[in-house]
Amino acid sequence: MKTCDVCKEPLRMMGKFKYADGYICKKCYKKASRQFTETIIKKSLQEIKELCGIERDEKSLEEFEVTGRIGNYLLIDELNQKICIPNNRMTNRQVSNPDFYNVEDIAECEIVYRPQMTLEELEEKTAKREEGTIKFLKIKITFKNKKEKKEICLIANPVRIKSYAFRQSFNFAKRMNQEIHRLMQESAEEEMEGGSE
Ligand SMILES: [Zn+2]
Repeated sequence: MKTCDVCKEPLRMMGKFKYADGYICKKCYKKASRQFTETIIKKSLQEIKELCGIERDEKSLEEFEVTGRIGNYLLIDELNQKICIPNNRMTNRQVSNPDFYNVEDIAECEIVYRPQMTLEELEEKTAKREEGTIKFLKIKITFKNKKEKKEICLIANPVRIKSYAFRQSFNFAKRMNQEIHRLMQESAEEEMEGGSE
């Protein structure tokens, strides 16, 4: 008898649900589909397991090899095409578990700050050590499934543009933005090459 790929319970005829790599039971389907609100047909076993809360951090950590890092904000694994956001004390009020993401799941990454101006304007102001304050500065990552987004907060309280603190945070933000876009680009190219074979 076939069993559920996640919990290994026997699969009933009417109670099995297909995902990309096989079948799971109704109980696991409920979790994997976030209470029946999402389809699972394109999800991999790893994704399904994560949604069911199994092997989440252990597995992700196991498969994560740090090949690059930007401060304490972002870890990069080029081999497995993943990023890790450590959720450290600096960026969050509470310490929480690190978050792992597949580069291929990232839809967009941008630097967000107020007051609004173009990145070039902000760079010029910074270079010229101009007066003025920035209310907040963060990296916003949106994912292809639309339901999730992640923010890496670099500045949460107003700081002067000409301060060292701002320049340093701004540099981190630009590097993260650049690095994530580079990884996204590579991931997209790889996908195209794979598709033409
Ligand atoms: Zn199951």
